[in-house]
Amino acid sequence: MSNGRDPPQRPPERRVPPTFSNRGACRFRIEGSAARRRDGPATIVCGLVKRVLLASPRGFCAGVERAVETVEQALDLYGAPVYVRKQIVHNLHVVRELEERGAIFVENEQDVPVGGTLVLSAHGVAPSVHAGAAARRLTTIDATCPLVTKVHAQVIRYAAEGFTVILVGHAGHEEVVGTMGEAPDHVVLVQTVEDAEELELPDTDLIAYSTQTTLSVDETADIVAILRRRFPQLREPAKSDICYATTNRQRAVREMLPQVDLLLVIGSRNSSNSNRLVEVGRAAGVESHLIDDETGIDVDWLVGRESIGITSGASAPESLVGRVCDWFRAYGVTDIRPFAALLEDVVFKLPIELRRAQSSPAA
Ligand code: SF4
Repeated sequence: MSNGRDPPQRPPERRVPPTFSNRGACRFRIEGSAARRRDGPATIVCGLVKRVLLASPRGFCAGVERAVETVEQALDLYGAPVYVRKQIVHNLHVVRELEERGAIFVENEQDVPVGGTLVLSAHGVAPSVHAGAAARRLTTIDATCPLVTKVHAQVIRYAAEGFTVILVGHAGHEEVVGTMGEAPDHVVLVQTVEDAEELELPDTDLIAYSTQTTLSVDETADIVAILRRRFPQLREPAKSDICYATTNRQRAVREMLPQVDLLLVIGSRNSSNSNRLVEVGRAAGVESHLIDDETGIDVDWLVGRESIGITSGASAPESLVGRVCDWFRAYGVTDIRPFAALLEDVVFKLPIELRRAQSSPAA
């Protein structure tokens, strides 16, 4: 969401004139809490940062754009409050902004007053959530990403045909909880290569797999290779369940990594695809950190670095990338440019319930 609504923030450290340090000539020096934290007040942390590369594509995917717009338009249509089950997308900034506009985030549909308006998050839910919402006579708008819905449909189909579905994903992640809830008696979760090696299944030809949409492409390939070896009859999805946005962001970072010596990933701690981007950097031997925004940057990370790579998870608004770039500009870095790996042009329609309500005469 490139909304320009975030006020410009002052950098957390004070910029002072260029100086000399025992690391050689530097373009700027930084005094402040991060420097003092490590070596005491007299320490000068010298930065040699010459350029910042911005991986592209990065940030909001079509599913997140759709989910955020759904809440915004539901607020316009129904007025506040609009209730949202769980974080609409895994980003604190997005959640706070929507709260300011009148959204109320709840953990459970049972927390919504009878007759209220409820938006379901992009991660998808189990059928029991729809049933609970209907029992409370809620006006429910399902903002589940269509690519998650596709995985649900696949699991439902396999289960109806008697398959055992191996779901590759992370226990407890909302998407996994929702997907498993579609056919709990038919789905077994595999999280790691060790799980894949140890998995015991009944002797049957009816075994298939699906995956969470936001996994590491490389790690999932390793897990699937083991499953194929152990279960040659394994039925596979026609197309990878890892979504285009996850795949593209990981690819962009992978291609950018040879040109940077530090990777900063903008995203929240509970954002699966943001964490996977950090892992891509670390797997390639590049120091990589997850930051919520510019206040998460530790100047110690920059010591001796020339080229910083920046990307953002699929739930992180572009305004945060702008704030991080401003932070670097404030310290004299002028060479900030995109690193484009590929173009994306995916757009999803808003949920049908919302479109119908908008076009009804009473709306
Ligand atoms: S990360 Fe992928 S699956 Fe998740 S909301 Fe975005 S497009 Fe949909």
